[in-house]
Amino acid sequence: MSHAVNVPELFGSDVFNEAAMKQYLKPEIYSAWKRCVSTGSPLPLDVANEIAEAMKVWAISKGATHYTHWFQPMTGITAEKHDSFIAPVGDGRVVMEFSGKELVRGEPDASSFPSGGLRATFEARGYTAWDPTSFAFVKDDSLYIPTCFFSYTGAALDKKTPLLRSLDEISREALRILRLFGDTETKRVHVSVGPEQEYFLIPKSLYAQREDLRLTGRTLFGASAPKGQELDDHYFGTIRTRVSCFMKDLDEQLWKLGVLSKTKHNEAAPAQHELAPIYSEAGNACDANQLVMEIMKKCAAKHDLVCLLHEKPFAGVNGSGKHNNWSLCTDSGKNLFSPGKTPSQNAQFLVFLAAFLKGVDEYQDFLRCTVASPGNDQRLGASEAPPAIISVFLGDELTAIVDSVIHGNNYEDPAKSVMRIGVDVLPAIPKDTNDRNRTSPIAFTGNKFEFRMLGSSQSIAGPNIALNTIMAEELGKFSDVLEQAEDFDAALQKLVCDTFTAHKRIIFNGNSYSKEWEQEAARRGLSNLPSTVDALPQYISEKNIRLVTKHRIFSEQEFRARYEIHLESYSKIICIEAKTALDMALRQILPAALHYCRDLSDSIGKKQSIGLSCHVEKSLAERISAAADRLYDSCEALRKILDQMPEGAQAAAKWCHSVVLTQMDTIRESADLLEQLTDKSYWPYPVYSDLLFY
Ligand code: ADP
Ligand code: MG
Repeated sequence: MSHAVNVPELFGSDVFNEAAMKQYLKPEIYSAWKRCVSTGSPLPLDVANEIAEAMKVWAISKGATHYTHWFQPMTGITAEKHDSFIAPVGDGRVVMEFSGKELVRGEPDASSFPSGGLRATFEARGYTAWDPTSFAFVKDDSLYIPTCFFSYTGAALDKKTPLLRSLDEISREALRILRLFGDTETKRVHVSVGPEQEYFLIPKSLYAQREDLRLTGRTLFGASAPKGQELDDHYFGTIRTRVSCFMKDLDEQLWKLGVLSKTKHNEAAPAQHELAPIYSEAGNACDANQLVMEIMKKCAAKHDLVCLLHEKPFAGVNGSGKHNNWSLCTDSGKNLFSPGKTPSQNAQFLVFLAAFLKGVDEYQDFLRCTVASPGNDQRLGASEAPPAIISVFLGDELTAIVDSVIHGNNYEDPAKSVMRIGVDVLPAIPKDTNDRNRTSPIAFTGNKFEFRMLGSSQSIAGPNIALNTIMAEELGKFSDVLEQAEDFDAALQKLVCDTFTAHKRIIFNGNSYSKEWEQEAARRGLSNLPSTVDALPQYISEKNIRLVTKHRIFSEQEFRARYEIHLESYSKIICIEAKTALDMALRQILPAALHYCRDLSDSIGKKQSIGLSCHVEKSLAERISAAADRLYDSCEALRKILDQMPEGAQAAAKWCHSVVLTQMDTIRESADLLEQLTDKSYWPYPVYSDLLFY
């Protein structure tokens, strides 16, 4: 039975948002909070105390008994520790208390979160501090306070702190450019982000039977089902009832938490789906995407489903990614990547476009690193996702404009009116007439860039930190030139022309999945870092360290710590996968195959004794026996390989990539053959056709 929901009433009802603040706070306290948020200054303690009290009253009215500082450590997911509001009053009773100090600062033990050596073990303390630009909310009987997480010395231990730093930088540098174009009004430039989230749903009962899914999030074994995605009948197809019940429930829970869940549909692979929100300010979009991922998992469980966020849960069908739609907009809502109507607006647009192209070209490797993970390695470049080579799709018309700026030519617009390119004579740039190019890693889609390489399970913080910082850097360099110029128009024209000329190689409008592009990209000198292990060392190149330290996004130590964490987690994940594969192969797959083989042999004996033909049994038993031998031998080989893991994070990661993963493929080959030869009733776990077509 469907129940009617009043969406506007439901939306944000569990969030202590501006409306709730206005209702629960004295006007002068509300104004004080607003002032602090817009100027970035810390909250005075008396203001914090008043806000805490109001927040508590509001949260209790929503059923909360606890509060938690909610943060985003380097695990890529969120962390929380709950304290109740209770305080004893001495006569055996309690009251509910919550102070400003408890609101603004927390002190969770940091020793068990990855810190990449930033937090010596003797200094286990970590601190959380309320980020007053993010709203608190109530979920599962707790008041959630979004916070930043840092060490005793102030080093960032989380993903939110550097993201907030990068948002300040991009705003500062974008404002300098806006001032040059005569904008004296804008006080803040915001980054807007809309992350489209892909995921798989499978029945919980089947998931529970697969050790690989439970321990690693992906299938390590499994022959392809007789049907895959070749009929294209799932993409945008009718959503099955069970899934649409899940989606309805998910939307309602997200709306209550103020998440702008907008679009839902089936994706290309069977059992694959997508959720897209309406874009919001980057910090909030990052929080919201964490909530989306978490609530997808919880909500699936309620519907006896499991939500898989792994980048490649199943071989042979598409994996899952996240499209990070990114743009800049002023505090009055003007999109800075919107081609304008007047020549001067267009000149400003071209400056932002030039900065973006230059930044992406100069920091290809940095961007590539922000999406590097073992899961994403299985997807990028597999003709279902962008390749590991970074390029930008602009579409034919915008590319033609870039070309004519470079050549100082006339630009002939499609309506055939000819105009001379110059700063004071620019063609009206058409909005979004381009064909969508699904193969490009970074596509301009009318008034935003869509960075399509993100893995489905990753935090969107890293890629957005990189985009913001790169953009801040290039805009800053442009301002340095333009602010000094005697003839602004001439300097501007030269700058845009020189930049397009120097960085044209990063533009590619063709098929990024093709082999030809790989060769062409190599000719153009673009970087191609196929795996995490190839990419990560570039992360801490001198150039990237200079970039992030100059803009105070990371100290060198913080930056190197992140490299260590990613490198170590790479090897840990591969080792868990390898050990899980061994366990399943030796304790489930091999016994099932041997059991069936024994029964076949028994039957051969019996049939022979009465003179019947045993052709099928013999042939099956032979093939199974041979595959079982190979499986066993390759398991033994993998065990030795794991024992030989070299010392040192980088050497270990390389070993995992080139030796461990290769041997796992060998194991899988025999195991998947055994699956195809063995009687279904002997097989220890559900196979692809069960999982994908339930
Ligand atoms: P699609 O790419 O599926 O055709 P849209 O172009 O409508 O869909 O948008 C995809 C995502 O991009 C949505 O999450 C949307 O909110 C987001 N988006 C739209 N405009 C912007 C913008 N200016 N900045 C950031 N994200 C945006
Ligand atoms: Mg998209």
